[in-house]
Amino acid sequence: MTELWSDDRLRWGMHELFKLIPNALGALHAESPYQLLIAVILSAQTTDAAVNKVTPALFAAYPTPAALAAASPADIEHFIHTIGLFHTKAKHIQATAQQLVTRFNSTVPQTHPELESLPGVGRKTANVVLGDAFGVPSFAVDTHVTRISKRLPAVSDKASVRDIERRWTTALPKTEWVQGHHTLILFGRQYCMARKPRCAECPLAAYCVTGQELLAQ
Ligand code: SF4
Repeated sequence: MTELWSDDRLRWGMHELFKLIPNALGALHAESPYQLLIAVILSAQTTDAAVNKVTPALFAAYPTPAALAAASPADIEHFIHTIGLFHTKAKHIQATAQQLVTRFNSTVPQTHPELESLPGVGRKTANVVLGDAFGVPSFAVDTHVTRISKRLPAVSDKASVRDIERRWTTALPKTEWVQGHHTLILFGRQYCMARKPRCAECPLAAYCVTGQELLAQ
């Protein structure tokens, strides 16, 4: 059985990635917790760049939760029809805005259970909003984080998203959770891509099981 990376090795690996990709930040454009929440809901299975193209006009038309809550999903679709799953997302962001108005006094809540009770908001979206909008230590797991974690491996191949979140948040100090998540995402985009990862240039290659296999081919 393949040995999983220890806490010490995960901390070492993350510090290597901090040196490789300093000051990693989220790529979604947002000027308030409300805008970030809506942008993250829109980003599911869509690139951040595609979301950034549609949000300026969307937020100009609906600058507050109340304005978005009063819109019809058909009107909202007009602004977001270029992104994936726009039909469902239009319904979700309108319903979420309605709940922000009726349940949270038009503000974005700051706890997991409250955020995850909103339409279209799952654990990953809640973690991104908590970390980036409110500075609450949180570690969001997306497709890049999952792929890298299984390649090292930090977790077994059968690990769930929650298992992966637990693995990194156990190994890393809270102060590194938000930056760690953003760093892994950029590392996944720039080095550890799904196809043809750049293992020869990767600082983790000496201990990465997948990297060693690929480099030996
Ligand atoms: S060695 Fe290759 S597979 Fe392993 S983390 Fe680095 S880029 Fe990814």
